[in-house]
Amino acid sequence: MQLQGTILFGHEFDLIEGTITIENGRISHIEEEANSSTDIILPAFINSHTHIGDSIAKDAGSGLSLDDLVAPPDGLKHRLLAAATPDDLISQMRKSINLMESTGVAAFADFREGGVDGVNMLQKAHSNSNVDAIVLGRETIDVLDIADGFGASGSRDSDFTHERQSTKTANKLFGIHAGERDKTDIETALALEPDFVVHMVHPTSEHLDHLQNTNTPVVICPRSNIVTGVGLPPIEDLLCHTTIALGTDNVMLNSPSLFREMAFVSKLFDIDPREILRMATSSGATIFDLNYGILEPDREAKILVLDGDSNNLSGSSDIISSIVRRASPSDIKQVYL
Ligand SMILES: [Zn+2]
Repeated sequence: MQLQGTILFGHEFDLIEGTITIENGRISHIEEEANSSTDIILPAFINSHTHIGDSIAKDAGSGLSLDDLVAPPDGLKHRLLAAATPDDLISQMRKSINLMESTGVAAFADFREGGVDGVNMLQKAHSNSNVDAIVLGRETIDVLDIADGFGASGSRDSDFTHERQSTKTANKLFGIHAGERDKTDIETALALEPDFVVHMVHPTSEHLDHLQNTNTPVVICPRSNIVTGVGLPPIEDLLCHTTIALGTDNVMLNSPSLFREMAFVSKLFDIDPREILRMATSSGATIFDLNYGILEPDREAKILVLDGDSNNLSGSSDIISSIVRRASPSDIKQVYL
């Protein structure tokens, strides 16, 4: 199997005209050679933070505060999740997974509500999918029997010391929301030595130094932060201190589209588009220890092919910038997972 076109090669996305050879699901060779293809070949995306359970509640609760929307146990989202039937939850989660696959997502990391049953439902929804699901369960530590880790709501809700210890013992992931509405839950979250934190809209310089010194990565979800009215993360500052990946957060609030998340970041922040594309690809791979998100030999072949001659992308004078700022699912020629 071979793919030909303009290849975004390696960590720096060097533009190479050439051919990628795939053998047994792995990239075996990347040859630089002239060709007439207008295809653009890039690593498939990694959506580093989702809650696809609330696919049953898209665009519910407009205008509500963050707590009224999503805080456990009584926020609108949790009441709607409790009222939904398992069949409906599974079917709507499956649609969101299918949507992610068709829009170039190779893997997503989900904080799944509902304890063991909730994780089971996601795994049912995910069966037969080509997308990799990294499932972090919540609410009970028993989820570690079947999930990839524990996803904590936030240190103001509970003391997660036991859950953190259990994930370490089980050699599984521990992620936690922190610094979403203000800075007050950041210190206690970082004291748990999480594998990653989500949001970090309100870090102080001490928190940033702590992230750097402990090499703790951050998943940011800026579109979600705007919808819930908590502000925007200081992305430039965060990038100076640690690994930053993009997540789309609650499907209730936003579509799980990394095209939209990248475009949003690129319009609001003066950040190199290469850096933004890394947030949607290789940074998530670093956090979740995935052997893709970068196009180079010996990586798993999880690849997105865009039509560089589409009505939308034709005439681009800066391919990376156009991918980040204007590309959309309609430009996709192939998602190879
Ligand atoms: Zn979240």
